[in-house]
Amino acid sequence: MSGTICPRCSSSDAVSDCQGMEDGTVIWTIYRCVVCCFSWRDSEPPSAIGLGVRSAAFAVDAANLDHYPKILQQ
Ligand SMILES: [Zn+2]
Repeated sequence: MSGTICPRCSSSDAVSDCQGMEDGTVIWTIYRCVVCCFSWRDSEPPSAIGLGVRSAAFAVDAANLDHYPKILQQ
């Protein structure tokens, strides 16, 4: 567990994929959830990534991921 909570499935298994730097300081981080594959930048507004702020239709139940329609294909 990384401790970073996924705004989509509420798991704490998100990993850092990339960081934006300016003058040696991290100004944003892109996280990816290893449970539901959602990816987000921590500088996005709460309306996009805020737990309990974004529509409940955005959330997924991490215990039942196989119940959701497949939206991405490889
Ligand atoms: Zn997730």
